[in-house]
Amino acid sequence: MSKMDNLRAMREAKYEAAKSRTTTGAQPARRPSVPKPAPVTAPTPATDEPPAGAPALCGHRNMSGRTCTREHGHAAKSHRYS
Ligand SMILES: [Zn+2]
Repeated sequence: MSKMDNLRAMREAKYEAAKSRTTTGAQPARRPSVPKPAPVTAPTPATDEPPAGAPALCGHRNMSGRTCTREHGHAAKSHRYS
């Protein structure tokens, strides 16, 4: 390999590098970012509500450990333990 061939090879390599740099630099190959999908919002069930058919009880406990069987938030002042 002579010196001239070596120089030409280097020149061509520089030319190719410069050409590829300009072509890729002129057109940004970067794609626009894909928009994020909407976050999946799971329906939140009302867990505070008792299931239908099961009446909410007062749940007040007397000293003997029995629970009030009246409805939750009953108007009667006294609790009923039965
Ligand atoms: Zn009660």
